[in-house]
Amino acid sequence: ESKSAGRNTMRFFDPTMQALVAQRTAIDRELRLALKRSELVLFYQPVVDEQAQMVGVEALVRWQHPRRGLLSPMEFIDQAEQSGLILPLGQWVLRKACEQLVQWAAQPATAQLTMAVNVSARQFRHPEFVEQVLEVMRATGVAAHLLKLEITESLLVTDMLEVIEKMQALRTMQVTFSLDDFGTGYSSLSYLKRLPLDQLKIDQSFVRDVLTDSHDAAIAQTVITLGQSLNLSVVAEGVETHGQWQFLAQRGCKLFQGYLFGKPVPVAQLPLSCLSWPLV
Ligand code: C2E
Ligand code: MG
Ligand code: MG
Ligand code: MG
Repeated sequence: ESKSAGRNTMRFFDPTMQALVAQRTAIDRELRLALKRSELVLFYQPVVDEQAQMVGVEALVRWQHPRRGLLSPMEFIDQAEQSGLILPLGQWVLRKACEQLVQWAAQPATAQLTMAVNVSARQFRHPEFVEQVLEVMRATGVAAHLLKLEITESLLVTDMLEVIEKMQALRTMQVTFSLDDFGTGYSSLSYLKRLPLDQLKIDQSFVRDVLTDSHDAAIAQTVITLGQSLNLSVVAEGVETHGQWQFLAQRGCKLFQGYLFGKPVPVAQLPLSCLSWPLV
């Protein structure tokens, strides 16, 4: 009975669906190997202040695939999250980022730079997450106040208390938290006052047309004001033009990230000796 049901299921199995599954299995296998063979690389994108001085970076993972070239995280993070490979991947990213932070700490010109690291929901929810972060901190000797973990609203759907407890445990060690892509997920404002956050990131979808779309402008302004009221710093993501920068700065935004200031690049290409960009 159940066997024939299984066969029936197979018969209705959509070939494109089948192809998708096969593709995912392949990505899994390759990603597992990629972790072993060190094919992952961290790029860094500047975060700048009102003077366009670099005050920190965000670490963004890429996959240097042997055949397909440099892959963006969009092409493998979701799958890694589904298969659970996000756990070793996320741990690798965290360790690499902390090692970089330690190197910068040794030089006066870079000693104050902060490092933002993206943490996926599944990674954060793992029972050992706090312990794993602490382990990387111990192993690298990183100055925890320079480490900023970026979480997203998707984390907040369930187990708020557990999320808060974990955040607090890490905050005790001076790790800070940023809410990434703010405004694109579950927009309940009640969690904002309960979460031990330090920063909000205005999603780039609101920044893109901020000069021409009055709704986007209103949302951006609201996030900036909200940040000020709740004593959270606010970063505008995806700033590509001088006009967007000026508009957001005039409305009280103090931190910026986007192609205007620099694309994500390998560490060697970060303009570390020249920590400022001229006003365009
Ligand atoms: P995110 O954390 O919101 O990172 C910002 C994304 O916007 C990055 O894309 C960045 O390259 C892009 N970006 C920055 N400035 C501009 C701009 O001015 N214009 C445009 N069009 N785009 C800009 P990227 O590197 O492709 O990463 C995409 C997403 O993948 C990230 O979004 C993050 O959610 C995820 N991701 C990246 N690295 C990691 C990681 O190490 N772990 C986890 N869990 N997720 C990661
Ligand atoms: Mg991010
Ligand atoms: Mg974002
Ligand atoms: Mg994003």
